[in-house]
Amino acid sequence: MEAERNTGIECAKSLIDRLAAVHTLELEEYEQLISAQNSETAAYAAKKADFFRKKIYGTDVFIRGLIEVGSCCKNDCLYCGIRNSNVNAERYVLTEEQILDCCREGYALGFRTFVLQGGEGVLTVEKICRIVKEIRSGFPDCAITLSLGEYSRGDYLKMFESGADRYLLRHETADSAHYQKLHPLKMSFENRMRCLKDLKEIGFQVGCGFMVGSPMQTTAMLAKDLKFIEEFSPDMCGIGPFIPHKDTPFAKFPAGSVEQTCFLLSLIRLIKPNILLPSTTALGTIDPKGREKGILAGANVVMPNLSPVAVRKKYSLYDNKICTGDESAQCLKCLNGRLNAIGFQTVTSRGDIKR
Ligand code: SAH
Repeated sequence: MEAERNTGIECAKSLIDRLAAVHTLELEEYEQLISAQNSETAAYAAKKADFFRKKIYGTDVFIRGLIEVGSCCKNDCLYCGIRNSNVNAERYVLTEEQILDCCREGYALGFRTFVLQGGEGVLTVEKICRIVKEIRSGFPDCAITLSLGEYSRGDYLKMFESGADRYLLRHETADSAHYQKLHPLKMSFENRMRCLKDLKEIGFQVGCGFMVGSPMQTTAMLAKDLKFIEEFSPDMCGIGPFIPHKDTPFAKFPAGSVEQTCFLLSLIRLIKPNILLPSTTALGTIDPKGREKGILAGANVVMPNLSPVAVRKKYSLYDNKICTGDESAQCLKCLNGRLNAIGFQTVTSRGDIKR
């Protein structure tokens, strides 16, 4: 038994070595590697991931000011607390002035990237473009990231031409049958992929990503996620544990694990050494030291909340989300202290990908 276990670990380490050398593995090898996750293989992958991250980004951690522009949503994703059919969800939409106020506050705190995220259809394309133009002219040295879901190619083009730089659209799962289990019938894997392709072709810096431990997810599916990331080669990749929300059909499913999320963060860093990889709020929610663990596993981005405190509890994608009661300045100070304690520091910069 012991001998078998050791062979398994040695095998996994040699796959990690190869991934660090050539940044690609076969689908089956990714699956083998994900199955071989334990404290020893995870520490081994984290050390290699740390090497690449430090070589490219040093100990700098980029900050993105997350502005949750609204909780109204026309979609009905089965995992999400602000899904359309959740009658208990409190709905709000920030005004343009409120969004600009968040930017002003964030700018003074040192943020040079603003991420506008919200439920789908919460803002019309016209309104999105107007706000992007205002942020672009008011804060010319800042990057603007949108995370507002699926639109037509023409609409994405309008957003880009208004001055948005980046777009985050998690692919959620690279397995089309699994995608369908997580989403209502009117959403499709094909359209998600179409969106990602359009965004890239238009010229956005694009982020994809997925939830770790989402209902019905298997190791084989996670292997597909890694292969997809390898092939799509996004500039950013958001991964975090699935966390159940009490008013969704997935309320009774268990949350994803910190360990698996961190292991996957390390592997993604090895697949694409210069990728911008956030240590997510969801990771900080399932473990009080989750965000630090994510950074130590190879992440180099954090996304503190810049939304007005009055609406934060209403943007409830999952239960027990952290930082919903603190002022933005307080959040940043707390995060800085946490990062300093592990040898990292936040920086005031747009934090573009280093090519
Ligand atoms: N409407 C936008 C933003 C969605 S919220 C869009 O479609 O892109 C951003 C991300 O939060 C989602 O992509 C999803 O991966 C994540 N999320 C939603 N519900 C979650 C849950 N219950 N647990 C963990 N992450 C969740």
